[in-house]
Parts: sequence; C-alpha cells; structure tokens
Amino acid sequence: MRDLEYYISQPKVDAHNHLNLGMHYEAFLAWSGEPIPDFPRRMSGLDEMHEVISRYTRPRCRTAEDVESLIRMSVRDAIADGVTVLEGSIDIGFMYHFGENMDNFLAMISSVVSDNAAKIDMRPELGFGKTFDKDKIHKWAPDLIRSGVFKSIDLYGPEIFEGIEDFKYLFELSEKLGLKKKAHVGEFSDADSVQRLVEFFDLQEIQHGIGAAQDPAVLAFLAKRKVRCNVCPQSNYMLSAVPTFEEHPVKAMLDAGVPVTIGTDDLLFFDHGCSLQIYNLVAKGVITEKDADTLLKTGV
Ligand SMILES: [Zn+2]
Repeated sequence: MRDLEYYISQPKVDAHNHLNLGMHYEAFLAWSGEPIPDFPRRMSGLDEMHEVISRYTRPRCRTAEDVESLIRMSVRDAIADGVTVLEGSIDIGFMYHFGENMDNFLAMISSVVSDNAAKIDMRPELGFGKTFDKDKIHKWAPDLIRSGVFKSIDLYGPEIFEGIEDFKYLFELSEKLGLKKKAHVGEFSDADSVQRLVEFFDLQEIQHGIGAAQDPAVLAFLAKRKVRCNVCPQSNYMLSAVPTFEEHPVKAMLDAGVPVTIGTDDLLFFDHGCSLQIYNLVAKGVITEKDADTLLKTGV
C-alpha cells in the first residue's frame, strides 16, 4: 500500500477550502496565542461549529492584516500538503476589514497569488453567504466578479431555497465572464435539493453534494452533466454529516461516474489535508488505489 508521503508528493487540487479557516490549528494557535478549548473535536453539526467561530476565530480576526495572515497561513499549509491548484474561497464580508475599499482588498489577494505563484496555482474564489447583508452583496459582488481577480464564485449558508433568486444575476454575470459557478449543497440536505440547485444556477461544481448519493438518479444526473463535487470526507465526519468515516458515500459517487475531488473545507476544524484524507479513504477500505488515482487526477 502506498504511504502518506506518496499522496503528498502527487499534484492535486483543493477546490473546497475556506481560506480564513484553511490552516492547521497548530499554525493558527502560534499566530493567535489564544487556545480554543478541546479542539479540534468532533461536533454535532454546523451550529456547534459556528459557536466556536463566533467565540474564538471571528473575534480574533480584526484587521486587514489579520485577514491576510490567515489567508497566507492557509496557502502555506496547502503547499505543504502538495496541493498544486488551490481554488480558495475568500468571503465577501472581509471587505469590511479593508474599510470597504475594493482596491485594497483585491490588491491583497493579488499579492498572495503572485508571492506564491512559483509553488502553487492559486485561483481565488469569491464566497458569499445567503444570510450576509444583501445590500452589500449587491454593492460589491458585481465589481468583484468583474475585477478579474476571482476565477470562481461560491454561494453558501443554510441549505434552503428561500431567497436564492436574489443571487441568480451573479451566477449569470459569472457565466458571461467565464468564472466557474459553485454552491454549497447536499452537505446535510437531500438528493433532490442537490439537483434543484444545480438546475437553478446551472452550477458546474458543488461543494459537498454527498446528499446526491441517496438517489442513483441524481448521481446519474450529475455524471451526465459532468457536475464536479468537491467533497470533504473528514469535514463530513467531524460535523456528523456521516455517522462514520467508513460510511462516507464518495465511493458511490465515483462509481456512478460523478467527477469528484477531495477538499479540506476548513483545515482548522478538521485537521486533515487532501493527501491524508485520500490516504485514509484507501487505508480504511472506502475506495481503491485506482479510485485514489482518479481523485488525484481530477482538477489538475
Ligand atoms: Zn465549505
């Protein structure tokens, strides 16, 4: 069996990485100096995770320099994991840390991209939450999408459909300008919701999408449309979206012909890089080495 080093040595994509939470706890702690008790730990769901975010990580990120430090730490840990293509999500809310100055926000992102260009192909992704101030999204998002700095967009937040029509024009604009269209769905929600969101926004990629595995017809739909799912098995296990790591449905997705990559989601919380997750999937008998090769090849 191939060891962890083998997987680290292989070129790979991380297409599901929220860059403000994308570093190992070790790096975060060295920077913040403020320990998070009993951490990282398995949690009952997103509510518990958001409790930790609101108590410990969000209050620690106060300035533009803090945002930049967090992103740089995440890029560093991705490079250490052998990630060669990083589709890293940057939340639109960090515009506040830059005094709502778009030029400064974009200049910071571009400097991180160019400083690391010899080691990693970083493709910034504009992330926005369904519950974020809609006026600010309408004010900032179109120009951020037009800036040329972002290569993809990602919509996340509660897995509900109310109000999603308010975001449709941003997906249409992204389509026109050639940015990839992604959204979070099927982490806790079912197969139908996955298909519905893909059709509504004409998504090219889904963040998570494991709910699709409940219905072979939806897996076939994703395979036929070649909709890539950027799944995060350790995140799904740590947030109790799957009962055990061994029961993760990634194998069913691969066998149905759905394009799949392995992402970290939030390394700070889940502590497993792409390489370790792929290694563990093979070691625990969830997938074969041939499947691992397919995962590694997808997206690079
Ligand atoms: Zn995510």
